[in-house]
Amino acid sequence: MTYRAPVADISFTLNNGADFARALADGLYGDLSSDVVEAVLTEAGKFATDVLAPLNTVGDREGARFKDGAVTTAAGWKEAYHAWAQAGWNALAAPAQWGGQELPHALNAACLEMWNSAAMAFGLAPVLTMAAIDALVAHGSEELRRVYLPKLVSGEWMGTMQLTEPQAGSDVGALRTRAERAPDGSYRITGQKIFITYGEHDLTDNIIHLVLARLPEAPPGTKGLSLFLVPKFLVNADGSLGRRNDARAHSIEHKLGIHASPTCTMVYGDRGGATGFLVGEENHGMTCMFTMINQARLSVALQGVAIAERATQQALAYARERKQGRAPGVETGSSPIIAHPDVKRMLLTMRALTRAARALSYATAVALDRAQRSPDEAARKAAYERASLLTPVAKAFSTDVGSEVASLGVQVHGGMGYIEETGAAQHYRDARIGQIYEGTNGIQAIDLVTRKLPLAGGATVRAYIGELKRIVEAVNATNDPAFGWTGVRLQDATEALERATNWLLGSQRNDLTAALAGATPYLRLFALAAGGALLADEALAAVRMGGNGAEAAGRVAIARFFAENVAVQGESLERTVVQSADSVNAADAALT
Ligand SMILES: Cc1cc2nc3c(=O)[nH]c(=O)nc-3n(C[C@H](O)[C@H](O)[C@H](O)COP(=O)(O)OP(=O)(O)OC[C@H]3O[C@@H](n4cnc5c(N)ncnc54)[C@H](O)[C@@H]3O)c2cc1C
Repeated sequence: MTYRAPVADISFTLNNGADFARALADGLYGDLSSDVVEAVLTEAGKFATDVLAPLNTVGDREGARFKDGAVTTAAGWKEAYHAWAQAGWNALAAPAQWGGQELPHALNAACLEMWNSAAMAFGLAPVLTMAAIDALVAHGSEELRRVYLPKLVSGEWMGTMQLTEPQAGSDVGALRTRAERAPDGSYRITGQKIFITYGEHDLTDNIIHLVLARLPEAPPGTKGLSLFLVPKFLVNADGSLGRRNDARAHSIEHKLGIHASPTCTMVYGDRGGATGFLVGEENHGMTCMFTMINQARLSVALQGVAIAERATQQALAYARERKQGRAPGVETGSSPIIAHPDVKRMLLTMRALTRAARALSYATAVALDRAQRSPDEAARKAAYERASLLTPVAKAFSTDVGSEVASLGVQVHGGMGYIEETGAAQHYRDARIGQIYEGTNGIQAIDLVTRKLPLAGGATVRAYIGELKRIVEAVNATNDPAFGWTGVRLQDATEALERATNWLLGSQRNDLTAALAGATPYLRLFALAAGGALLADEALAAVRMGGNGAEAAGRVAIARFFAENVAVQGESLERTVVQSADSVNAADAALT
């Protein structure tokens, strides 16, 4: 089954769960109207459904091919990329000064979801280019911006992001790629990078690598890293392409999923050193790289949402057609499997998790927009801290959801899910990388607990929990029986989150080992409380709007399902956070 972009669903969550409609009404986006927003979403949905979705299976089967240093993408990918870039999709959120449309990040996030649902290996490519644009806008010299930004924004050239080396994965500070100053003010880069997404390909004439490297006298660890722009082809003064730089792909990886996305080993300096240009200041590479990483982490969160959406659509369609056994209360004939309560539970879990992850990810994007566009500085700072708090939660939860939902999708298909023919297996394989790249989900949880909770002395997280509690109060105040136990269960979850947060911020927080042992269950607890509240908020909005009875009934039903079946795990997660450290740290004997 192919993908149909769920434009109405996406628009509803964007406007309500993620509060984009309020940002629009606040004037955050100037004279941008909701009609234009809807038109953009509709057109993106058409492109994703009609042009990109048919490429997904071809990309998986053919993959990217490597020969003599060159990478050839799968049939149809080059044409689709050019059509996509020409339609202006790459430039959607980029600054107008460099040829972009300067539309909201939140709108771009919704589009990214659709590109990635249609074909995740395709949707991954522009993520790196968009991150490179952000890094150059924030930290590039005037000259670098002038030469590179217009073509990166138009999509004529693509970008890459290069941190990983064999000995330096999560531990970026261990990287060894060298940079030497050259007399002309540029640098010579020597070393090897591994696992570089779209490090080499045939989609664009030039590829702009953003590479972390270390100067000879630099301090050890991350404090000694600098960021360099290393183009595949050097650019002449008139803007034309000059000589080939001393940077090449050595090979590409054979991997579990996203086969159409080339994952390259890159070699720099075979012929004396690749020419690189410093981005930002020497030894401040991590600051610049973090501009890319935050953008890229949200994009990977959207990949999780995307693959979950596609897997859900496919499982629902299959469950309506496949007949087996007889559902309770049915007298004759066999029933479609969707009628069996256990299958219905799987499908509802898929839909509920997907929508919660979507709401969280879009809310993070709206916070990023507020951080950039709010008129006063205090509001910008608060929004930046909100976005910083939510980014690791959105990334880890949404990509966990991507894998969990894709796995349920295989289960709904039974044996046919394990057979490649249906496509359910591809979603499962493709989804898995989201939990690993852009910082593993374990690293996200550590980031949340050690860096994000202490933001503003804990005020950022406490303000957020306060907002979740107000939503829960509003649910309780409705006294609408359709909500069932929603208010009670969400109250339990948000209170569990509050207690676990206080515990982590309080005296126990000084025990780093205990905090780290509980980091992953804490992130899940955070996401379940927040996701549940956002779904309930959407349900309240749908009821208020009234008009479409089916919309309100569906939103209330999914919020209730999430609260009563998923968010209920919150209290046991709290116990795991607060009490598990000893059992983790005392269990070494079990690992001998
Ligand atoms: C398909 C693909 C595409 C990629 N694309 C890019 C790219 O474009 N650019 C790029 O630079 N990199 C890229 N990567 C690399 C990716 O970001 C890393 O694989 C990832 O950051 C994890 O690093 P690692 O593989 O070395 O695992 P490791 O760091 O060895 O981690 C192994 C395990 O140990 C855990 N762990 C490690 N350190 C700690 C710690 N301090 N505390 C707790 N747990 C810890 C991790 O969570 C993980 O579970 C890509 C990887 C793949 C597979």
